[in-house]
Amino acid sequence: MKAPDFAYVRPASLDAALALLAEHGEDAAPLAGGQSLVTALNMRLASPRLLVDLNAIPDLAGVSEWDGAVRIGAMTRHRDVGTASIVRERLPLLAAALPHIAHPAIRNRGTIGGSVALADPATEWPACCLAAGATIVVRGPRGERRIAAEDFFLGLYATALEAGEIVTAVEFPVPGPGAVWGFGELSRRHGDYALVGLAATGRQTGGSLTDLRLAFFGVADRPVLARAAAAAVEAGDVAGAQAALAGELAPTDDPATRAATRLHLARVLLGRVAGRMCGDTETKGGPDGV
Ligand SMILES: Cc1cc2nc3c(=O)[nH]c(=O)nc-3n(C[C@H](O)[C@H](O)[C@H](O)COP(=O)(O)OP(=O)(O)OC[C@H]3O[C@@H](n4cnc5c(N)ncnc54)[C@H](O)[C@@H]3O)c2cc1C
Repeated sequence: MKAPDFAYVRPASLDAALALLAEHGEDAAPLAGGQSLVTALNMRLASPRLLVDLNAIPDLAGVSEWDGAVRIGAMTRHRDVGTASIVRERLPLLAAALPHIAHPAIRNRGTIGGSVALADPATEWPACCLAAGATIVVRGPRGERRIAAEDFFLGLYATALEAGEIVTAVEFPVPGPGAVWGFGELSRRHGDYALVGLAATGRQTGGSLTDLRLAFFGVADRPVLARAAAAAVEAGDVAGAQAALAGELAPTDDPATRAATRLHLARVLLGRVAGRMCGDTETKGGPDGV
């Protein structure tokens, strides 16, 4: 299929892009890496009359650290997020998640801002944002808003973004002493969207795991923080944590995978990731290479 007719503009400033979105309202859509939007256009699942290309706007891409936070510009490509030296040093969770995002061609074009704005519930960055306590920074007609990841992802492809707003950056707090992390994902083939995934952060203090945040993806209409399961893991009860997932995750049946299968896989992942985070303080957690 071919995309419906649309007009295209490539503004050179954020203010110009915001003005275009304000002028054209629901007829306009920001274009970032185009890896999801152009597919949706070609399949006629989306039909904006105007694409506002964000690629020529200076300062929307790049990774920097200041005031205890790592700031990742919205137009930073997936690959550049996961390979940035600051990220590898400060936020190894993101570096571990990168290879699970699609394929190299998509990782070279797709952006972190596009990923969080799209809010596909089976994707890696939104769950990492939730696990790491990130803040989504947006600009719109009312100026800048800073939205905690927990308040940003509202449902299936639904976010707290308001009409005319653009995601400008995602900010992650720099983890403190004793920080540990874990990442795991199960998919049918490498590069496929996750059947189930888990991004986790926590702290090892005096042999105990504390401040644990377990963000599951692929198991509900949005990434989910499993709080009861986290409390059980902190108490050393991994089996109890796996049981608690039944009340915290909301997978649904789809033509390829039953909800019960996803729940089972989530329990398997939790066992693996929690085991690594509890047991291996030398490597501070690690990715589950499945
Ligand atoms: C075959 C295939 C497999 C994939 N597998 C995975 C995967 O395993 N994991 C994964 O995470 N992703 C996967 N993706 C999606 C890919 O990562 C996309 O790049 C990502 O979802 C969207 O990023 P983008 O920069 O391409 O955004 P675009 O496609 O340009 O835009 C996506 C949506 O977000 C809006 N938007 C974009 N940027 C902004 C912004 N800054 N502010 C406000 N709104 C904005 C657009 O208007 C549009 O509605 C896959 C895609 C394909 C085609």
